[in-house]
Amino acid sequence: MKEKIWLSSPHMGGAEQQYIKEAFDANWIAPLGPNVNGFENDLEEYLSEEVSVAALSAGTAAIHLALVLLGVEKGDEVICQSFTFSASANPIMYQGAVPIFIDSERDTWNMDPELLEQAIKEGIARGKKPKAIIPVHLYGMPYKVTAIHEIAKRYDIPVIEDSAEALGSTYKGLKCGTFGDIGILSFNGNKIITTSGGGAIVSKDPKVKEKAVFLATQARDNAPHYQHSEVGYNYRMSNITAGIGRGQMKVLDKHVALRQANFEFYKEALSGCKGFEFLENPKDAISNRWLSCILTDSFKTREAIRLALLDENIESRPLWKPMHLQPVFKDMKAYTNGVSEDLFDRGLCIPSGSNLTNKDRDRVVSAIKKVTDETKAVS
Ligand SMILES: *Cc1c(COP(=O)(O)O)cnc(C)c1O
Repeated sequence: MKEKIWLSSPHMGGAEQQYIKEAFDANWIAPLGPNVNGFENDLEEYLSEEVSVAALSAGTAAIHLALVLLGVEKGDEVICQSFTFSASANPIMYQGAVPIFIDSERDTWNMDPELLEQAIKEGIARGKKPKAIIPVHLYGMPYKVTAIHEIAKRYDIPVIEDSAEALGSTYKGLKCGTFGDIGILSFNGNKIITTSGGGAIVSKDPKVKEKAVFLATQARDNAPHYQHSEVGYNYRMSNITAGIGRGQMKVLDKHVALRQANFEFYKEALSGCKGFEFLENPKDAISNRWLSCILTDSFKTREAIRLALLDENIESRPLWKPMHLQPVFKDMKAYTNGVSEDLFDRGLCIPSGSNLTNKDRDRVVSAIKKVTDETKAVS
């Protein structure tokens, strides 16, 4: 069996273990401590001097807390991008609220502003103004920030910016994660940097951080005994995992550049193959290229390539299956235009880790080319 090539695997920089050792030496083995504060400071410095960051146990927990902080309750409606990972939408269900899914546009593969506005207008007409909007920078490609936020502002609806896949991406020179009323990040094992598992809430309002930390640590009132006036959560990041995060921050820019180089490599190497499309950066946006995606000419080609890669022990994955096609969300309202369904049919994520070697990438390309050569030979 040939050596496995993963879609996106953890890539340590080297400094991580030192921070973990410090935590052990000081016996800070807890969901708070100097690494948590240090990691938050590093993220704030990286993103923008205007934001405060609260480090949490997962990106999913961050979205859940964001909904709680915005007062989303049972029966409320929340607008969510359909073309995404289920973790964007699941927390809406945790609150007993109702997701309304919005399809994508072609330029960024993210939330279509026209469908968004239609959904808001119809919601208001039904007497149900949406409580929040969750757009996603999918695969690291920034959504149409200006258009989406202009609409949100016009109707006075807060935005939870799902930047789980977009740490290091920029829009008009500003970092993704900083545009929402609340932004969220993920440090899961497959993300651009990882703490093994973790997430964060980002906000320009320091009170959001304060309240997020309060809720994430069981909502304890200020008293010598345990007293609670609100329902709390156990969502804080641990001082051990935050140590990994501090080490990863030292290599974040390098990892973004390496992922972007993967994308450019594939684009160049497959430029001679007909029927392949790559999503270019639109004006104003720079993707971190968390995952390199190719669009083939058909579902059939996409499956042939996926299976040919599997045969070579190379992991690949169809693009996200839209939420409006998921069995769990089948009864939810959706505003669709066929775009995300088409992307799901024809698109494939190929190995994208910052730790890929040239040899790995050559293996990926030659496995793909074998399929396209065969189709040429047949037709
Ligand atoms: C990974 C991811 C999340 C959830 O983050 P976790 O840290 O895995 O809980 C949310 N949204 C998107 C788009 C993601 O890719």
